[in-house]
Amino acid sequence: MSEQIQLEDLTILVQRKAVKHVYLRVYPPDGRVTLVAPAGTRLEAVRAFVIAKRGWIRKQQAKLEARSRETPRLFVEHENHAVWGRHYLLQVVEKQAGPCVMLDQQTITLQVRPGSDLLKRAAVMHAWHKSLLHAVIPGLIEKWQERLEVRVSAYFLQQMKTRWGSCNTRRRHIRLNTDLVKKPQNLLEYVVVHELVHLLEPSHNKRFVALMDQHYPVWREATAELNQLPLAAVRPRG
Ligand SMILES: [Zn+2]
Repeated sequence: MSEQIQLEDLTILVQRKAVKHVYLRVYPPDGRVTLVAPAGTRLEAVRAFVIAKRGWIRKQQAKLEARSRETPRLFVEHENHAVWGRHYLLQVVEKQAGPCVMLDQQTITLQVRPGSDLLKRAAVMHAWHKSLLHAVIPGLIEKWQERLEVRVSAYFLQQMKTRWGSCNTRRRHIRLNTDLVKKPQNLLEYVVVHELVHLLEPSHNKRFVALMDQHYPVWREATAELNQLPLAAVRPRG
């Protein structure tokens, strides 16, 4: 059994379980809030708990936002760059030829024209990231469109600061964060599934959770891994 609490712009999904304490969690990618309460707790008591924890929830959501802003890269020699969850050292080659990026076992070689500045280097790298994503995403969408029996009209790649993906259910568009190229590919797949499930259920309600449990049972692990640390608080029943 599950209910929802609405607190200004916060929607908290409440689940009743055979637990002794109230568990409040803020989940990436979008700071969704879930509360697990002992079966017998009255909804007013749960609501009071959430009101008391409002500051904590906001803080966790702000942390999620901050975490998604990593230290900016300078695109210089020996800098660490991740691709599909693996770390590589950057090598920069200046050459009077078309810019390109090459990948081998340990190194990403960024070839740029002599005198290319940070912005130019970043743009070459970004274009390469997008090409890596475009090589994988259509296959993932195809696979999950079939499994979920939904139709996506288009997908877009975008650098986003606070979210891994989004879904416009009216236009049936999904938007994916280009930083997903830095994460293991199964996490990209998780975000694709999450956004496609929104075509069946736009909000993060119990139906959405049930659909994720049904189609992608490891989604909790995936959300935690996507943001490295689960943001969780365990508080005694108050
Ligand atoms: Zn969502």
